[in-house]
Amino acid sequence: MLKGIAASSGIAIAKVYKLVQPTVEVVKKEANVEEEIRKFQAALEETKKDIEMIKEKATGKLSAEELAVFDAHLMMIGDPELQSQITSKIEDEQVNAEYAANEVSNAMIQMFEAMDNDYFRERAADVKDVTFRLKCHLLGLRIPDLSLIDEESIVVAHDLTPSDTAQLNQFAKGFATAIGGRTSHSAIMARSLEIPAVVGCSDILEKAQHGDMLILDALEGEVFINPDQALIAKYEEKARAFVEEKQALQALKDKPSISLDGHHVELAGNIGTPKDVEGVLRHGGEGIGLYRTEFLYMNADHFPTEDEQFEAYKEVLEGMQGKRVVVRTLDIGGDKTLPYFTFPEEMNPFLGYRAIRLCLDRTDIFRTQLRALIRASVYGHLCIMFPMIATVQEFRDAKAIFLEEKEKLVNEGVKVADNIEVGMMVEIPAAAVNADNFAKEADFFSIGTNDLIQYSMAADRMSEHVSYLYQPYNPSILRLVKMTIDGAHKEGKWAGMCGEMAGEPHAVALLLGLGLDEFSMSATSILKARKVVTSLNKKEMEELAKEALSLSTAEEVLALVKEKIK
Ligand code: PEP
Ligand code: MG
Repeated sequence: MLKGIAASSGIAIAKVYKLVQPTVEVVKKEANVEEEIRKFQAALEETKKDIEMIKEKATGKLSAEELAVFDAHLMMIGDPELQSQITSKIEDEQVNAEYAANEVSNAMIQMFEAMDNDYFRERAADVKDVTFRLKCHLLGLRIPDLSLIDEESIVVAHDLTPSDTAQLNQFAKGFATAIGGRTSHSAIMARSLEIPAVVGCSDILEKAQHGDMLILDALEGEVFINPDQALIAKYEEKARAFVEEKQALQALKDKPSISLDGHHVELAGNIGTPKDVEGVLRHGGEGIGLYRTEFLYMNADHFPTEDEQFEAYKEVLEGMQGKRVVVRTLDIGGDKTLPYFTFPEEMNPFLGYRAIRLCLDRTDIFRTQLRALIRASVYGHLCIMFPMIATVQEFRDAKAIFLEEKEKLVNEGVKVADNIEVGMMVEIPAAAVNADNFAKEADFFSIGTNDLIQYSMAADRMSEHVSYLYQPYNPSILRLVKMTIDGAHKEGKWAGMCGEMAGEPHAVALLLGLGLDEFSMSATSILKARKVVTSLNKKEMEELAKEALSLSTAEEVLALVKEKIK
């Protein structure tokens, strides 16, 4: 049994699919020209077949724009210019095909990367992708592709990128990764896909082999490799009980979230794509408290255009039928990169050029997103929030750009809603401490505890070595949360929370007592949170919160909450 961190609840029992990216090492060799050309032609065919298959499997799961990437890749692999350059190199230098392919593709990548034009720089990423596949075929290396999994499996990997996670199909019953924590993006995606996941399971790659039988207990964060029949039977039973409990919570789906003494809060869902709206509604969400728009950018091969973005935002707003939708502007950087954008090299990307910092620098990118949002505003109740705000000036600058774009659109004769709320995430301690001043200018706050805890504790949220410092119940964090809520209320504004803490049942009790107005979480946590809210008395929770704030450690706080509420 290996221990990890339960990141997305559930139980899965299936065989291991081990995701290992091959290392491509190309050596120059003298070779038989005819044979190399034959090898090259065969590899071309294999590559083409792969891409066609990936595209076919992704059809219905991905949007038309996302699927267009595969068409571009097919065009590239069929490009006579690419083929003739590689063939000529094999003939002229009498070298092996992989060497020729490597040389030609590197030159092409360099050429595209050097161009002062976004479109061509995007092509460099495509050439890399396609020729990596081609070289792997030439070298006989197996290329893992999660969308190609066709039997029930548990994916085991060092880590999964958000796009790896997005490609998981119905055969992936869960995943276990060697690194990551509860708030790493693979964990968050797993919760929105509703598949069990255990992360930060450090020895998993050494201990579990492709094809091994695995029990993934993502309730406890435990993984069993090659279990015996008795253990499998025990976990089949546990899986059944888990499903039954989930079904029982469904009775609360259409009930309001009102405490025993009549206090109403809003329980909303976090989403990454318009497709996730359905899950939020199915789990009784009263709104969207966080739409992470960066996935729109990450799952594309170019900066999404204003129209592409408009369609996505409109779909979410219409899907929520007038319920509040909080859209966060681009929060890229840190661990979230783009294949078509080069970030500056930094020692600490999590503390660097990212989110609102990048958007205030690259206002072209920011303005496009704001225009798309403002245009979509007439389709529902839109709230816009800026990520990673540290200073009041940043908020003012971002809001000024929003107002400029809104005015421009109005002057162009475009209809826009007049009730768009403009707020901010509170995820940097500096913002929490200064919340009362921010509240004079922002319409609302949403506390991002994933980052707020990371920055308060100076503990990388991606590192399993310091995951013990992810302490939502630490009085330091509770005090920052209280300052933020009080700051908002002083100015008559509302305060929400969209970090993972908002969905933890014990935290819900404390946050109710601290006066939080909106709780936004993974869709699958909503009903459990409603059960908590509807079975508690707010006045009592205020007392509980007060007592918690006087304690010294997270352990003491959690023990107190556990003692007071069952
Ligand atoms: C947060 O930091 O708590 C948050 C909700 O944002 P993200 O997890 O996307 O960084
Ligand atoms: Mg954040």
